Amino acid sequence: MARYDTIIVGGGPAGATAALMLAKGGARVLLAERRKMPRYKPCGGCLSRRVERLLPFDLGRLVEERITNLTFTWRGRDPVEGTFSEPMAYMIWRNKFDQALCERAVEAGAVLQDGRAVRSVTASANHVDVDLDGQTATADFLIGADGVCGVVARDLFPDRAQPGLVALNAELPLTRAGEAALKGRVILDAGQVPGGYGWAFPKGGVASVGVAVERKAARRLLSCFTAFLGSSGLSGGGAIRTTGALIPIHRDGNRSLSRGRALLTGDAASLVDPLLGEGIYYAIQSGQMAAETILTDGSRHGDLSSYQAAVSRMIIPELEAAGRLSRTAHRASWLWFQVLKRRRVVMDLYKKVLMGEASYRWFEDQVWAGTPRFVVALFGLWAGRGALSDRRQGAGS
Ligand SMILES: Cc1cc2nc3c(=O)[nH]c(=O)nc-3n(C[C@H](O)[C@H](O)[C@H](O)COP(=O)(O)OP(=O)(O)OC[C@H]3O[C@@H](n4cnc5c(N)ncnc54)[C@H](O)[C@@H]3O)c2cc1C
Repeated sequence: MARYDTIIVGGGPAGATAALMLAKGGARVLLAERRKMPRYKPCGGCLSRRVERLLPFDLGRLVEERITNLTFTWRGRDPVEGTFSEPMAYMIWRNKFDQALCERAVEAGAVLQDGRAVRSVTASANHVDVDLDGQTATADFLIGADGVCGVVARDLFPDRAQPGLVALNAELPLTRAGEAALKGRVILDAGQVPGGYGWAFPKGGVASVGVAVERKAARRLLSCFTAFLGSSGLSGGGAIRTTGALIPIHRDGNRSLSRGRALLTGDAASLVDPLLGEGIYYAIQSGQMAAETILTDGSRHGDLSSYQAAVSRMIIPELEAAGRLSRTAHRASWLWFQVLKRRRVVMDLYKKVLMGEASYRWFEDQVWAGTPRFVVALFGLWAGRGALSDRRQGAGS
């Protein structure tokens, strides 16, 4: 098999954008994807608008729905509405979106081998070997973009994290009334899912509807899903497809994402927002950072350690802010809901994060700065240690 500059395992958003950037930079790239593209990926398909800033092309026809309304519900009732004059998110189908990214990478010169799985990887001081369905491919560098429970993390990163959330996602055909109710709107539900949330994300006549629960409550996944579906009023006909999945939300701590000639990106690196499960943005961002590192420090000195520093500086603080908020939101979800009801400005603040106009850290500060002191104290009591106290430590460091 030919020798490459970089082998990327996984053709999702992290791998495909890394391949695109590397190929544009003149590198010989192999993008190995175990499924035939386009492939189904269980996902809500919600892209925050800031994703647009990262992509070097127009999303155009990939957008199924433009989201201008955000509805939070408590057990399917008591809606709290945020309405915006411009879209703060787009809905896409992952099969089409990921396929389009892979096509861009191929147009730029990357070699896509889809329908072929990487079975194992080994790394030495000056190259990496990949077993691609029984054949060995060799490269200078390796990017693990193979998602949750990937082979690259398994073989080269022994301190990899365990996924924190378990999810069930269904593609649900909507009645005319359901389609009208969800037009341009996403619904997020709290109160009936332990440590997690429910969602309904529209794409014309179909909605991606699902729940994510903390892993220790996995046995309750189906009952939570049924409860959310019933309370949402969307449970008309049968789902086209229902799929279980793991969501590798970021947990505390800086795990190693760079080891010798290998890097981890996206879900393989657990770069998923713990508050609302957004992962596509961080997958693309980390894929591009990995490519950038290889094109600069990797090519010049064979050293990829600056990737870890870049992720620690630009992504981890955001995910940690989201993690602190998620601990209060998920442990004291009723109190959070009351705050949302009384301080609708919180949605306007969050919109700035989704648009890429403000950081999560800024959002976190704004939320607490504007919340009455006695309510903040209640959060401290209710959500317990490890929620607000972590924030004080984080703020001081
Ligand atoms: C139910 C659910 C809903 C979600 N909703 C949203 C949402 O609305 N918005 C959002 O931003 N995020 C959402 N996420 C998170 C988002 O889907 C992920 O964060 C994102 O897909 C990560 O991209 P990635 O490229 O890192 O990994 P993936 O998209 O998982 O891509 C990894 C690829 O690697 C391939 N692969 C795996 N192993 C191998 C191998 N051995 N050899 C070759 N190829 C391999 C896989 O087939 C896959 O194509 C959701 C996740 C779930 C589970």
